[in-house]
Amino acid sequence: FTVLAVESSADDTCAAVVTSDRQILSNVVVRQDNYHESFGGIHPYVAIKAHQRNMPNAVKKALEEANLAVSDVDGVAFTQGPGIAGCLSVGANAAKTLAAALNKPLVGVHHMQAHALTPFLTTPTEELPQYPFLTLLISGGHTLLLLATSPRTFRTLATTVDESIGRVFDKVSRMLSLPWNTHGPGAALEAFVKFGPPAEQLVAHAEGQIEAPEFSIPMRGRLAFSYTGPHSAVERFLHARGGIVNDTTRYEIASRFQRAAVGQLEEKLALGLEACRQKDTQIRHLVVSGGVASNLFLRERLRVCLDKASPNVHISLVFPPPSLCTDNAVMIAWASMSRFLNGDTDDYTIDLRSKWSIEELDSSGPDFLE
Ligand code: ATP
Ligand code: FE
Repeated sequence: FTVLAVESSADDTCAAVVTSDRQILSNVVVRQDNYHESFGGIHPYVAIKAHQRNMPNAVKKALEEANLAVSDVDGVAFTQGPGIAGCLSVGANAAKTLAAALNKPLVGVHHMQAHALTPFLTTPTEELPQYPFLTLLISGGHTLLLLATSPRTFRTLATTVDESIGRVFDKVSRMLSLPWNTHGPGAALEAFVKFGPPAEQLVAHAEGQIEAPEFSIPMRGRLAFSYTGPHSAVERFLHARGGIVNDTTRYEIASRFQRAAVGQLEEKLALGLEACRQKDTQIRHLVVSGGVASNLFLRERLRVCLDKASPNVHISLVFPPPSLCTDNAVMIAWASMSRFLNGDTDDYTIDLRSKWSIEELDSSGPDFLE
């Protein structure tokens, strides 16, 4: 079964072709980062216009790269939500029109479920996650620690009380004016910390002249995330210096911020595992997905964290490859696959769901935290 999928929930215009035997035939992502640079976030009107401009060619390219005619497609999938309503509608209209014109079935997909299920496409079959597993979905719009008991059944253990980790990575990166990176400002921050400032500037470190904000773990001991604290700590620090800091200081801020942002995930993850243990829920896998999961420093830290939090029982860490952590239509195609195969498809009149909790996919599941 061959699915053509489109995704346009935020600022990337994506189209892809994936088959039921787990082949990714194409994966087209048209980024629009630079359009939003001056707004300090995604500007909906700008994003909608860019999706409208880019979607037709993204679909055309996805078919070309897959070496398929549109008539070879067996089903069309799209992101039904959550996301920016106007952005979602561009992908939805493209998908509905294609499906109707081709007289093929249509499936609307939950964007976060798609992030969570990506590893089922990219992991070798003998290493696939087993239910129940924990999943950490860390992206531009979400910071979620979930318990997954089936492909549609997710319960929230922790979510952010304010901003998302990805958005704050972007904001701190922009505040520090870090070098432009094709993968966006969050990835620019990771690269800046990894490669550091020129060696001669590090002399200042040796002489103990380190200047940078201190970060602490918010709501320690509670199953909740908060990223406004680290965000405003950087903002205050820079503001007090009129925004002018040298490269060594920028390096120190970026690296401490990254450590704190990940440190918070580690603390909450350990709490989540403890909560599962208390409920006699055996966890053997942690699935980490969403744009921030492409961060390699984070991948290393989470491995160490799992070994420490669960010394006697090995918990496998599962990540999609970095390129499938950020938004893409491959994950939308894959999340739709079982529904196509089961004949559980949507009407062409299906509505968008701009706000849509992942728990609502299957509300009959047990309430873990009760
Ligand atoms: P959501 O999935 O919640 O709707 P989104 O689709 O906008 O939000 P994604 O594309 O999944 O988000 O992820 C984008 C986010 O990932 C951005 O905020 C970006 O900063 C972050 N990100 C990408 N690469 C890295 C990296 N290497 N390190 C840290 N953050 C990163
Ligand atoms: Fe996303």
